[in-house]
Amino acid sequence: MPTFRAPRGTRDLLPDDRAVFDRLQRTAASLTARYGYRGIETPLFEQTSVFERGIGEVTDVVEKELFRLAPRSEEAEAWALRPEPTAGIVRAYVQHGMQTWPQPVKLTTTGPMFRYDRPQAGRYRQFWQFDVEAIGDPGPAIDAEIVELGHRFYTETGVKGVEVLVNSIGDPACRPAYMSTLVEYYRAHRDALPPTELDRLERNALRLLDSKDPAMAALNAAAPRITDHLCEACAAHFASVKAHLDALGVPYRVEPGLVRGLDYYTRTAFEYYVAGREGQQQALGGGGRYDGLVALLGGKPTPGIGFGLGLDRVALVLAEQADGEAPLADGPLAVVVGADPEDTASRLKIATDLRAAGLRARADLARRKLGRQLEAAGKDGAHFAVIVGDELAHGDVQLRDLLAGTQKVVPVDDLARDLARAEASHKHG
Ligand code: AMP
Repeated sequence: MPTFRAPRGTRDLLPDDRAVFDRLQRTAASLTARYGYRGIETPLFEQTSVFERGIGEVTDVVEKELFRLAPRSEEAEAWALRPEPTAGIVRAYVQHGMQTWPQPVKLTTTGPMFRYDRPQAGRYRQFWQFDVEAIGDPGPAIDAEIVELGHRFYTETGVKGVEVLVNSIGDPACRPAYMSTLVEYYRAHRDALPPTELDRLERNALRLLDSKDPAMAALNAAAPRITDHLCEACAAHFASVKAHLDALGVPYRVEPGLVRGLDYYTRTAFEYYVAGREGQQQALGGGGRYDGLVALLGGKPTPGIGFGLGLDRVALVLAEQADGEAPLADGPLAVVVGADPEDTASRLKIATDLRAAGLRARADLARRKLGRQLEAAGKDGAHFAVIVGDELAHGDVQLRDLLAGTQKVVPVDDLARDLARAEASHKHG
């Protein structure tokens, strides 16, 4: 038999991992509801050109990392798995005429993204993002609101020491002049450029600034900074974003080298890091303003801003910061056990009724001795054992409180109510 394994760069979320993701998704859902975002689901794949046009052809994501689906002969369209959610959501905004809805349209989604990247720690070919998009508001106040929302996500999920890096990357009015300055700078150092970067220099010099090649680090640190070349409108916008962040008390640092890997960003760009762990592989999440994207995908010019926060990396950091403390599994509240190993029907019926009443219950369906059943209930972390014995003939069972070590006779008809009460008294002491 061959040994089957999950595809390279993917991983299985086992129940403990899935429980962490559930908690992250619940936090995301609670936050976005409070901030007025509504859910959206777009397909996991789109026409390739949605990404090529939206994200930009000279980007790592499109050039190297796009998961292209092999076209079937009868299909005219080329498809690719989504590397990020924004392009697909903006495609949906245009397709469904959302520009006629009250603006901004605030949308959120959480799900898997796909990038054909070289797998390493914290970098997978299938990973999860929690994403928000606010389309139709030019900012700057909403920029700060979104940066704060992302920061609050980390606070509420319990990640410690998260810092926000912010930058402005200009707009079509000021970026071209800056780009010329940047190209001149790199041309003057062309001998130091690795071949791939040399090739990109003439096509999209901004990409060199966030190159992952270590050979570029020193050169990039000394490169001209976009923040010194912003036009008046972009500079005023950036100043106002910072003033709003100050007013909200969000801890942030201006990082002029932060340009983000995707072409569609304008003005505000931001990333979240655990302080002291800045670097390409370590970003917990990031986002930015994309005032040109709706028009690029065929809509009328409409500003927008959003973020994508990687859930896999949050889970990794939470595990590191918890220092080996395993998350508590959601075990059953009660396990129904019985003196007659063969009478699985009675145990299953009682557990089924408890579940119907809204309680977490498990029936012991292994035909084993009562002592073994009780032992297993303890290992499961159950708070109560419901013991089925001869009393069942009169409609009663024994309810054992496994935490308190007490036991009493309870009519089956009152069992759900008594269990809920007993559990409530555990919680309130
Ligand atoms: P990006 O749009 O590339 O900045 O991605 C936003 C966030 O998604 C990052 O900050 C990461 O947390 C996460 N992310 C991006 N690519 C990957 C990947 N290959 N594996 C795991 N997480 C990723």
